[in-house]
Amino acid sequence: MRLPKFDYSDPETLDQALDLLDSHRDDAKILAGGTDLLVRMKKGLLKPKVLISLKALNELSYIKKQAGCIKIGARTPLADIISSDMIQNEAKALCQACEKIGAATIQHFRGTIGGNILQDNRCHHYNQSEFFRSGHQACHKAGGKICYAREEADRCNSTCQSDGATALMALGADITLARKGGERTVDLASFYTTDGINPFAMESHELLTEVTIPVTEAQSAYQRLAYRSAIDYPIVCAGVLLKPSSAQKDEIENARIVVGAMGRSPLFLTQASSSLKGKKLNDTNAFKKAADASMNSASAFAVHNVGATLEYRCAMVSQMVFRALEQAAAAVEA
Ligand SMILES: Cc1cc2nc3c(=O)[nH]c(=O)nc-3n(C[C@H](O)[C@H](O)[C@H](O)COP(=O)(O)OP(=O)(O)OC[C@H]3O[C@@H](n4cnc5c(N)ncnc54)[C@H](O)[C@@H]3O)c2cc1C
Ligand code: SF4
Repeated sequence: MRLPKFDYSDPETLDQALDLLDSHRDDAKILAGGTDLLVRMKKGLLKPKVLISLKALNELSYIKKQAGCIKIGARTPLADIISSDMIQNEAKALCQACEKIGAATIQHFRGTIGGNILQDNRCHHYNQSEFFRSGHQACHKAGGKICYAREEADRCNSTCQSDGATALMALGADITLARKGGERTVDLASFYTTDGINPFAMESHELLTEVTIPVTEAQSAYQRLAYRSAIDYPIVCAGVLLKPSSAQKDEIENARIVVGAMGRSPLFLTQASSSLKGKKLNDTNAFKKAADASMNSASAFAVHNVGATLEYRCAMVSQMVFRALEQAAAAVEA
């Protein structure tokens, strides 16, 4: 498999990168680590005319504390996140999620957090070679009018398999998108569209610059299931956050449960999350109920397009959420 032809730009500043994006718009793609983008280009799924590299933009590579939040530059390597004491202690779910991405040799020294959030949705009917796809009618994501994963679907239900995005949504993260002459910050939970063809609510001339995680008394945890612990994408994963009440330390004031690899975006399950409000941190019955409720809600979004059977993935949601809740509760109590 060969890369298609493209022009390569290597801007030295963020302003230069934004100028280039603004002039090329839909013809351009940002190249961070390339571990998602170049694979898709080799498979002929994407043929951008221009790649704008972030290689020289060291200004987008940092982890720092500012105004009660952790700020992570979009080009920060996953390896830096994994080895950061700040992330380990105050945003544990993100550290646990990044540790699972790909394998140390391929991912940890190239993959970036921005690229992880913005990797395209996947589907085993679509993420195939050009030769494989040439034997099939094109589906919605390939420009056709059918879906192999859900027969009656009028849109694409490809799956977001980003470990990082699932953990970050559980942590209540915001992301900052810059464009020539301005920027906007959005809650990650509101960043997704309802169509897997273009899963992100962003414009082609916008560039992800920063991830912001609020720091609170809460503790977080991340669990995931994949065929092999290295290389494979998650077939289901869960990130959770538990905030203890300031008046009663053994009581949950606020919870966030996010399930990943089951829908077009990570799924923030508001009902299951709010069912834990006021519950004790050692109330395993309440955790079990919230985990089962998460399974019921997430199952409505999933289609059969990620390797394992749909039934198995749905059943495992409950397990992943329960384990993550137990782990976060233990961390609060420690
Ligand atoms: C074998 C293999 C296994 C993998 N396993 C996993 C896994 O288990 N879990 C997982 O989550 N991922 C996995 N991945 C996907 C990918 O490697 C990671 O998600 C990685 O973090 C992507 O980061 P990157 O910097 O290489 O992104 P790139 O490939 O450079 O970019 C990905 C997409 O984001 C866009 N982009 C990147 N940065 C920006 C920015 N700052 N602003 C605007 N657009 C941007 C690019 O244009 C591109 O469309 C795997 C990939 C491979 C090849
Ligand atoms: S979910 Fe359907 S439309 Fe989307 S990539 Fe898969 S087969 Fe194609």
